[in-house]
Amino acid sequence: MSGFLIAANWKMNGRREDGLSLAKKLAGYLEKHRQEEVECVICPPFTLLGEVGKICDGVAAMGGQDCHASASGAFTGNISADMLEDMGCSYVIVGHSERREQHGETDEMIRSKAMAAYRAGLTPIICIGETEAQQEAGQTIEVIRRQVQDAVPEGVEGRLVIAYEPVWAIGTGKTASLNDIEMVHGAIAALAMEKKSVAPERISVLYGGSVKAANASEILAVPDVGGVLVGGASLIAEEFCAILDAANELV
Ligand code: PEP
Repeated sequence: MSGFLIAANWKMNGRREDGLSLAKKLAGYLEKHRQEEVECVICPPFTLLGEVGKICDGVAAMGGQDCHASASGAFTGNISADMLEDMGCSYVIVGHSERREQHGETDEMIRSKAMAAYRAGLTPIICIGETEAQQEAGQTIEVIRRQVQDAVPEGVEGRLVIAYEPVWAIGTGKTASLNDIEMVHGAIAALAMEKKSVAPERISVLYGGSVKAANASEILAVPDVGGVLVGGASLIAEEFCAILDAANELV
């Protein structure tokens, strides 16, 4: 897809005061600098979705950080895609490596969550990426191939957004090389077209893993990079706005 999707994953951070103050700074920036071709999506903790959504209404899209595969039921502690949609979300992150590691999520579970998101009218941001050991063993493409095959639903009719997040780059300050990002993003797009029959204009592949103001321009300029998924740097208004600036300059 043309343009960029710039997504903020606040993870489990933000009491009300901090989250709302950050949201107000972002909304202020976006009101002045927002461009049609650069979509910003904010994924705060569930507790702040409603209020952050109001502050960012009309300037940023909202997303959940996870959803359950069912629409409702006896699933204590979970949130459904339908509930996220009801709160004004249009996106949901699924398959983040922290969920895979800490909650034992498998590619099959992630595919079910992605399907639930589509059914609820949301666009899932499906996270994939190799571990450090897999990267060192030269297995990156093999891992990516399996994850696209198993975690991406069949017959996607809307947008397909995949975030390539090498696990070893998340929260570590390390990023994949620009050459590797180009190679892996190209492979993901080709696999999505070939294995899932998704037309190229409906595919966005985001890069995630220690993206910050200082490296956003060079990463966004890599062919086949359709945007970024930002964790730590999305909690600092100046850093995240600088990443949005970098995207604005490249469109
Ligand atoms: C993430 O959590 O998706 C992420 C990319 O984190 P960070 O930017 O902090 O590496």
